[in-house]
Amino acid sequence: MKMFEFMAKDIFGQNGIPVPQGRVAYSADEAAQVAREIGGPVVIKSQVLTGGRGKAGGIKFADTPEEAKQAAEVLLQSEIRGLKIEQVLVVEKIKIEKEIYVAIALDGAARKPLVIASTHGGMDIEEVPEEHLVKYYLDINIGIMPYVSREITRQMGVRGEIAKQIQGVLQKMWQVFKAYDAELAEINPLVISGDKIIAADGKMTVDDEADFRWPQGTPYVEERTEVEKKAHELGISYVELDGDIGVMANGAGITMATLDIIQHFGGAAKNFMDAGGGSSMEATAKALEILISTKPKAILANIFGGITRCDDVAMAFAKVKESIGIPVPVVIRLVGTNQDEGVRILKEIGIDAYSRVDEAVAKAVELARQA
Ligand code: GDP
Ligand code: MN
Repeated sequence: MKMFEFMAKDIFGQNGIPVPQGRVAYSADEAAQVAREIGGPVVIKSQVLTGGRGKAGGIKFADTPEEAKQAAEVLLQSEIRGLKIEQVLVVEKIKIEKEIYVAIALDGAARKPLVIASTHGGMDIEEVPEEHLVKYYLDINIGIMPYVSREITRQMGVRGEIAKQIQGVLQKMWQVFKAYDAELAEINPLVISGDKIIAADGKMTVDDEADFRWPQGTPYVEERTEVEKKAHELGISYVELDGDIGVMANGAGITMATLDIIQHFGGAAKNFMDAGGGSSMEATAKALEILISTKPKAILANIFGGITRCDDVAMAFAKVKESIGIPVPVVIRLVGTNQDEGVRILKEIGIDAYSRVDEAVAKAVELARQA
C-alpha cells in the first residue's frame, strides 16, 4: 500500500529526518490558514498517490496566504492522472541549492533491500543515467551501519558536513524501512539548503500484509478496491487483476503457480485469491461468493488438500450452488485429503473434478474463451 506524501513525511519526521514545517489542508481557507501560521513563502502540494506531480502541475508556490488560498482552490478542484485531489500539503518553501535522491527499495529478484542514491535528484529516478546512480545491497540483518552509509556517500562523491547529514538520513530511513515493513522508502528530492539538508518530498509503500502490526488501525492509505476490502475483512488475500478467469486456490504459493499456469495456456486470471490453507467450509463458501460477485467468465479452483479437506471445499461449492447459484462454468482441480468424498460431492452437483492441474487449467482457459 502506498502512503500519501504527508504520511511518509510525518513518519520520517518522527524518526529524526528533517522535514519542512507544515501540514495538510482540506480546503482553500485552511490552506491560507496554514500559510499564515508558517508566515512566509509556501509550497502547496497535491496529495495524490502518484509521482511526477511537479510536472503534472500538482505543485504550486505562493508568497502570501491569499496566493496560497488561490493555489489550493485550483488544486482542490482538479485531478492528477485521473486521481482527485482531496487534500493539499502546505509547507514552508525551502531554498534549493541541490537536489539529491535517496531510497531504500525491496529488490524482489535479489531478495534484498537496495539503497539507491544519487546527487542527480529531483527528476524521475528512471531518467537518471545509470552511471550517476549509487546502488548498494543491504544485508537485512545488518541494515545501514555507519560504515555502510559512509561508503554510500563516498560513492556519491559527497564530502564533509553534508555527507554526514546524508549518512544520518540513510540510517534513519533504514530504521523506518524496517519498522514499517516497507517495500519502498524514498526521498526525492532530499534538498541541500545552505549547510542543512531537508526532505522536500517523501514516499513510502508498505507491505499489505503488515496491518496486524498497527493495533490502532493502519497509519496508511487503503488502496484496495471494494471487493479487495471485503475479501480482506474475511481474512482472504485477494488482488484484482485484468483477466477473465476467477481463481481460487488454497495457499499463496499454489495461487501464484496457478496464475502462471493460466498464462502458460494463454488465459488470463481475473484475480489472485488465496482462500487460505485449512479454511472451513463456511470460509471457502464466502470466498466463492466473492469470486462470483466479480462476474468472471469461468471459475477455476486449484485445491491441494493438506490441512484443507477436499470434502469441505466440495461442500462449499454445493452450498453456494444451492443458495445463490453459480452462474458461470466451474473447473476444479481437487487432490489430497478426503479427495474421493470431495469428488463424489462435486459429481452430485454436476461438477467434474480434475486431478491434473494442467488439464484443469487448459479446460478453464477454453471455457473462458468460449464464454
Ligand atoms: P513530485 O513531482 O511528485 O515528485 O513532487 P515533489 O515533492 O518532488 O516536488 C517536485 C519539485 O517541486 C521538486 O523536485 C522541487 O524542484 C520542487 N519543490 C518541492 N518542494 C519545494 C520547496 O520547498 N522549495 C522549492 N524551491 N522547490 C520545491
Ligand atoms: Mn519527488
